[in-house]
Amino acid sequence: MAYKVLYRKYRPQDFNSLYGQDNIKKILIDSIINDKLSHAYLFSGPRGTGKTSTAKLFAKTINCENPINGIPCNECNACKNYDQSPDIIEIDAASNNGVDEIRDLRDNAKILPTYSKYKVYIIDEVHMLSQSAWNAFLKILEEPPKHVIFILATTEIQKIPITILSRCQRFSFQRISNDIIKENILRISKEENIKITADAADYLALLADGGMRDALSLLDQLSKENQEISKDLIVETFGILTENDVEEIFKYLSQRDINAIEKIFNEYLKKGLDINLLISKIINYIYKLEIEIINGKKSIFITEDLKHLAEELIVCYNKADALNLIKIILYSYIPQNISQNISQNISQSELEESKSENISREIIDERNKTNNKLIQNNEVQKQKNISNMDKINNLKQIRLNNSFVNASKNEKEKFKKNWEIFINKEIGKNNIEILSLIEDLNIEVVSPTNVLFSHKSPSVALLFNEQTNNLEQEFNKIANYSIRFICISSSEWEEKRKEFIANKNRKYIYIEEPKEEKTSEVINSAIDIFDEKIIEIN
Ligand SMILES: [Zn+2]
Repeated sequence: MAYKVLYRKYRPQDFNSLYGQDNIKKILIDSIINDKLSHAYLFSGPRGTGKTSTAKLFAKTINCENPINGIPCNECNACKNYDQSPDIIEIDAASNNGVDEIRDLRDNAKILPTYSKYKVYIIDEVHMLSQSAWNAFLKILEEPPKHVIFILATTEIQKIPITILSRCQRFSFQRISNDIIKENILRISKEENIKITADAADYLALLADGGMRDALSLLDQLSKENQEISKDLIVETFGILTENDVEEIFKYLSQRDINAIEKIFNEYLKKGLDINLLISKIINYIYKLEIEIINGKKSIFITEDLKHLAEELIVCYNKADALNLIKIILYSYIPQNISQNISQNISQSELEESKSENISREIIDERNKTNNKLIQNNEVQKQKNISNMDKINNLKQIRLNNSFVNASKNEKEKFKKNWEIFINKEIGKNNIEILSLIEDLNIEVVSPTNVLFSHKSPSVALLFNEQTNNLEQEFNKIANYSIRFICISSSEWEEKRKEFIANKNRKYIYIEEPKEEKTSEVINSAIDIFDEKIIEIN
């Protein structure tokens, strides 16, 4: 039998075996017993607290032919097949957030369930839906077919439009207590013959930070060591997993010390650890940071940026090259206005602190010196970034326009074929740096001279645009025709598309690109990504 990860294997089969969230369970069971179902539910709360498990159990129970006191019978057809049921539809809004997907859903929802009472749509990370997708969704939520139930799950309830909130029955999932997590770890360890000490189970629960799924992923990793799990083993295996380490990453980010971050990531990679766990840790840390800033703590990070950063990191979840994507995304969020914030920090809080905490004058001077250096470096970097960004933005506008000039389906088909060959070739080369840029691109518009791509992550789109020259050359070698690339974020594309439809009769006129002299910088960044021999071709 194929190995099944613990959290899937021990996914609860009914509400009795679901750990934590007792209040929510009780209300849901009562509503099933009293046949008082709502058409839409909203489950909000931190990652790994049982939102999706609860949604699935709820779907299973309401479709069971003979439920007993709100507990599915596990005997009937619906129960036995609920894992593959065509009537329980799971959608990940992080990767299906466009209006087209929601329109498909709307059409599909009108069709009666295949063999169950209800068609249940579980939409995960629902806050990622685009504005137009929400509008489309609202229409079906206003008049839902009788046989349809929606369960929306989100980690960020504040991003859900009020018009949606008011139409859902809402449940707020809490972090699961360490005791409950520990109890589950010990129970599963016993069943799986995994030896674990009590204080190791305590420590695991602490690391999991209220998330059962994280706890079981940790246990999974550790069980592969084939030795008794002790606290020492945990520390040794998950050196990076404590909050301190994530804190380190952010400290280095604020100091622009990319080498130090690379080192942390490389160690992580060497240990072959679960990247998704790292992503959750970083995201949880970001949420914590946001709250601290809102409560008045000084930080060089801006809450708006942090919000976007968390959103973009969710895109990395379950991706094969997630670690690389995380790097790209994190680096693009290195604070730009470091100087201003740092001087503020020093002048106010630190000086005051120095009185009470007795930090000596020298330490303060030393810190100021380092910070001044940072500020200078930052200014130079900032100027470079700004001029580079201007260039790219300018080019972006031109290429965006040009991709609409004589664009056609035929061009798109022709390009698609070659693009597939290109991607396969790159996969063969196993160049993760390039793959992470090109793998999840959507081809939106193709003209004889230009291609317009979109990507979920604005950071990846930006990075792609910094590398178009090299990518075009590589592509040209395979396809034997030259064509210009540009990439915009999915949300930008959504806007552009609307604009295009609204101005259907507009004539697009080709704009020449400005001639650009090659700077050593472009070549340097190319060397980072490609091997040198490509550069020589020029
Ligand atoms: Zn049943």
